[in-house]
Amino acid sequence: MFKHALQVMAVAQSVGAIIVIEWPRACKYWHHDRVKRAMLNFGLEMYDFDGCMYGIKSVIPKTLNMPIKKPLRLATNSQIIGKAFSTRCCGHQHHAVCEGKDTTQTEGYSAEFANVFHKAWKAQGRAMFKTQAATAA
Ligand SMILES: [Zn+2]
Repeated sequence: MFKHALQVMAVAQSVGAIIVIEWPRACKYWHHDRVKRAMLNFGLEMYDFDGCMYGIKSVIPKTLNMPIKKPLRLATNSQIIGKAFSTRCCGHQHHAVCEGKDTTQTEGYSAEFANVFHKAWKAQGRAMFKTQAATAA
């Protein structure tokens, strides 16, 4: 599967597109040689963040709306997107344990996560447009 991701990243790099990988921080993939090589080849930097700072909350009745820490990591060639996803836990007193129904629902993205990503994507697009406009002038 990563073989196909590498093919997509190669095409993305060839056209100057933005590449973003997001996996849990503890994911073993981060330590694979193929992933490490891809990080170097595609100029990807790692950014660590905690899901609790991006609206990831429990949906289980006994811990409803309690933040779930969910340590995550991005690898991207966009400093703008990377910086947008660099916020670590502010020190919440309690986090819900990510289990059961919460595990399933945290496989998706919260509205807050999507909003942060969209704002960063927009800023990245503007920065790329400015660069292209300056180059063309
Ligand atoms: Zn937290």
